[in-house]
Amino acid sequence: MSTERRHRMIEEMGLGPVWTLRERASAEPAVPASAEPLPDIPVAVAVSAPVSEEMDWEQLQDAVAGCTKCGLCRTRTKTVFGVGARKAKWLFVGEGPGRSEDQQGEPFVGPAGKLLDNMLGAMGLKRGVNAFIANIVKCRPTDDNGRDRPPSAEEAAACMPYLQRQIELIQPSIIVALGKTAAVNMLGVDPEIPVSKLRGTVHRYRDLPLVVTYHPAYLLRSLQEKSKTWRDLCLAMDAYADATA
Ligand code: SF4
Repeated sequence: MSTERRHRMIEEMGLGPVWTLRERASAEPAVPASAEPLPDIPVAVAVSAPVSEEMDWEQLQDAVAGCTKCGLCRTRTKTVFGVGARKAKWLFVGEGPGRSEDQQGEPFVGPAGKLLDNMLGAMGLKRGVNAFIANIVKCRPTDDNGRDRPPSAEEAAACMPYLQRQIELIQPSIIVALGKTAAVNMLGVDPEIPVSKLRGTVHRYRDLPLVVTYHPAYLLRSLQEKSKTWRDLCLAMDAYADATA
């Protein structure tokens, strides 16, 4: 990658001020507890149609929109299918929808989404144009207090066939796993392994290169990790260049 592009990545990710200006953000969860009671909607777990290898894009979208394969269907407002070019070469995978995503039906909105967009921009990518953004689960996981939480292993396993079919349809050249949930579910590794142990290596998801980096929401709370993410994105760009040479 050119020196000019590396400098642009530093600038667009806001790396410069990290070493001099910024205060560490609060370690509190980014999304406050919901004051609204959860709706009492009956769940028909595991009655949704299975994901088929023949499913086209529209059929897959319909299947997700009506899915009741796990309990997250009870509390969602909207399913979050993913956004981007259907034939994107770059696929970014996060954890699951948060409150804003659940209400808007789009992944990575709000401050974390803005940071992800800046990361994409620094790489010459743009959501909806040449990158696709998805999550491990399509419905928002919340705890008993209405706060965002990571999906359980069972929820992730129930939802993974949708992402797998998306990948078959998109046929990306590279995948970037954003955060631990995405990394461990896509790589099938020990769920206790930290992201720090998975970074810095070009893994494989089936026959595709996969690079692990931190989730943008984590970066908002841990600004010192931004420079590591920058290195991860450089690694991903090099792996992409190798994969498409
Ligand atoms: S999270 Fe996935 S498996 Fe669970 S209900 Fe939503 S779409 Fe279905």
